[in-house]
Amino acid sequence: MQKTKLGDQIKAIVGQDYFFDSYEDRLCYSYDAAIEEAMPEWVAMPGSVEEIARLMTLANTEGFPVYPRGAGTGLSGGSVPLKGGLVMVLTRLNRIREINQEDLYAIVETGVITSALHEQVEALGLLYPPDPASMKVTTMGGNVAENAGGLRGLKYGVTKDYVLALQVVTPAGQVVRVGSKCVKSVSGYDLTHLYVGSEGTLGIITEITVKLVPAPEHKESMMAIFDDMNMAAKTVADIIKSGVIPATLEFMDNTSINAIEDFKKIGLPRDAQAILLLETDGVKAAAQHEAEKIIAVCKANQARDVKSAATEQEKLQIWEARRTCFSALARVRPNTILEDATVPRSKIPEMVRGVTDIANKYGIQIGNFGHAGDGNLHPTILTDLRNTEEKQRVQKAIDEIFALALSLGGTLTGEHGIGSAKAKYLENEFGPEGLAVMRAIKTALDPNNILNPGKIFVADTAIA
Ligand SMILES: Cc1cc2nc3c(=O)[nH]c(=O)nc-3n(C[C@H](O)[C@H](O)[C@H](O)COP(=O)(O)OP(=O)(O)OC[C@H]3O[C@@H](n4cnc5c(N)ncnc54)[C@H](O)[C@@H]3O)c2cc1C
Repeated sequence: MQKTKLGDQIKAIVGQDYFFDSYEDRLCYSYDAAIEEAMPEWVAMPGSVEEIARLMTLANTEGFPVYPRGAGTGLSGGSVPLKGGLVMVLTRLNRIREINQEDLYAIVETGVITSALHEQVEALGLLYPPDPASMKVTTMGGNVAENAGGLRGLKYGVTKDYVLALQVVTPAGQVVRVGSKCVKSVSGYDLTHLYVGSEGTLGIITEITVKLVPAPEHKESMMAIFDDMNMAAKTVADIIKSGVIPATLEFMDNTSINAIEDFKKIGLPRDAQAILLLETDGVKAAAQHEAEKIIAVCKANQARDVKSAATEQEKLQIWEARRTCFSALARVRPNTILEDATVPRSKIPEMVRGVTDIANKYGIQIGNFGHAGDGNLHPTILTDLRNTEEKQRVQKAIDEIFALALSLGGTLTGEHGIGSAKAKYLENEFGPEGLAVMRAIKTALDPNNILNPGKIFVADTAIA
């Protein structure tokens, strides 16, 4: 069918107000928070599951690609329409349908903003732990599709640990329900967790049931300051070895500290080589006892100082510093490439040293921060991609960072997904056999390869 006619059909499904095909509108949906860009042919914002199902049926019949999109904060190019087609923006499905205090679950539509769910459950003394640094803008659907992590991931786990059930629209337009409200359910294949982290390649997630937990009674927040980056990295592993699992254990190097201070002037120590931001939580006496143990480990590892936040305001400042880190680094140079290669925690010191060596070898600037307690660092390359010579050095550095992580027994991505940005490395992690199993799943569920083509698998190779 002709392009204009297809556009008319899409418009007829979602209505004139929610269909866009002007150059300016399409441009707004041609990128996310990663580097790659591509123009869609149409943008549609469906307002119901029924509209989504009709759009998928049309796409499957006519063979045009569909790129699901939440808030577009993805860091691996996940929602970028590499092959044109339709960008399906899911933010209109934004109702919190139920918060159940008896059975401790919440049911939300895909477009609910993550922090909106936090606020509502916290007002009831409950907690939905996954807290990506981008939580004030991200959608729950985007979090599920990327299996997002967050600052509390060390103690509480990541999105997949909280998803109980999903409603999904398949590439052929069928509406299916997977999982259960029960905390225990082993009925059939675990399709729920097949969709979690599927990066918009297997189905459109429309409704999510998540597990809630009681909110902790008390929190202790601390900042440990180090003159030696290696000692800070070693402290991460030593804290875990000491038997304490903090709720949060974040690492920040000197480049990141100074970028934040230039941006927000929070009062971080500009001369420190690294800082660790830490939080313990739980019953007050236990949280305080764990904080004391952590302080002792930091001091034994030559921390220059460990500052405990005395007031709520000081606590908020510590976490504000961490949450603005990426935005602060992004101001330093025209382009920012944030990676999330992850290693076993005990390998953090080697990874930190290795990334510094790679930056020196290629003469590029890399800020390093991240959820170090999870082994999940964010080496952040600050560059100018208009400079083709520098771009080549950056590409070689990225290749080496991923090779280093894998050689340390790590993984390509701890939370941002493969998307298009890391597709070419995936075989290095799982081998041709592992990749073939993934391709077989994609082919079984999306035989016409219409959902998010070019992601996870190198473009055009998803169909076996
Ligand atoms: C400043 C900043 C900080 C960040 N911090 C973190 C962090 O701490 N932890 C972390 O894990 N990530 C972080 N991210 C990355 C990003 O915010 C997460 O990946 C987030 O989960 C993406 O949500 P989104 O709504 O923006 O999704 P989008 O970027 O719109 O989409 C992400 C992927 O999900 C797919 N998708 C979206 N909605 C659906 C749906 N309903 N059904 C099927 N597929 C769908 C898209 O096709 C795409 O592949 C950060 C990003 C930024 C810019």
